[in-house]
Amino acid sequence: MLKVQVSNESHSGILYLVATPIGNLQDLSPRAQQVLMSVDLIAAEDTRNTRKLLTHFQMSTPMISYHEHNEKKQCQPLLQRLIEGQSIALVSDAGMPGISDPGEEIVKEALKNDIPVVPIPGPNAALSALIASGLKSQPHLFLGFLPRGSSQRKKELKRWMTTPATLILYEAPHRLTDLLEDMLNIWGDRKIAIARELTKKYEEWLRGSIGECLNYIRKKGTRGEYTLIVEGASEESRLQWWNTISIDEHVHHYIQNGWMKKEAIGQVAKDRGLPKREVYQVYHKQQAAYRESEA
Ligand code: SAM
Repeated sequence: MLKVQVSNESHSGILYLVATPIGNLQDLSPRAQQVLMSVDLIAAEDTRNTRKLLTHFQMSTPMISYHEHNEKKQCQPLLQRLIEGQSIALVSDAGMPGISDPGEEIVKEALKNDIPVVPIPGPNAALSALIASGLKSQPHLFLGFLPRGSSQRKKELKRWMTTPATLILYEAPHRLTDLLEDMLNIWGDRKIAIARELTKKYEEWLRGSIGECLNYIRKKGTRGEYTLIVEGASEESRLQWWNTISIDEHVHHYIQNGWMKKEAIGQVAKDRGLPKREVYQVYHKQQAAYRESEA
């Protein structure tokens, strides 16, 4: 059902999603300051962190903690306040709430309860890195953090390896080399821009190929916060994207994307210029081997 939101006609409070600096405090917009000052309550991912921001701007708005571990529990009391007419600003530790940060849950619940949700735009590491990366800004796909475990991470990298859009990723410094190694193996030596410590004193950019960045990082080590912007799959690699995977992985790829087994086998045969019967045999032989090894 279509719902129309006109914020200043609402009798309930407003849920503001306020973007906060990703390093440089001067990036807190005047409008964000005004909202943070005037709301009844700030729901903050880490109240100690946000306290520093409020102190810098001489604000003393009451705060409550709202983070990934208490998101479910805190949602209802916050909704109750909004229903009663209080306004709440949601902030994360840095950047935009809801972008690899808590926010989605309360937004969904607020909308279910017809509470206006208003974004207060501002800093965001992903888009800041994208616009200065030198790579195509449209189309782009924000992947955020990939899974921590190696096999899950590789699976995700395979999932996006034929995507022509520029890819945006976040990664923690201690996992960056592993991620780049897996990217190089699965996506090939594509162009990449790595933004470190955006808006901070030691902001640094690496622009080159994945292999070049990997060599540099292996020598220099990692420190601080990183956002990665990676060139999408080229037309050529998209046509032959399956070059680096086995026949059964190739079939599996289509099955995971919702194809029926028969269709997947047919498409693999077409992609590789092989008879269907050959793909069928290789696939079933491999499946039987898996079953045997698991028994
Ligand atoms: N909500 C935030 C946003 O809008 O950008 C992102 C939060 S996420 C938990 C934190 C990750 O964002 C970091 O691990 C890093 O990958 C990226 N990031 C945050 N600040 C950054 C900065 N100053 N420079 C580069 N990357 C940054």
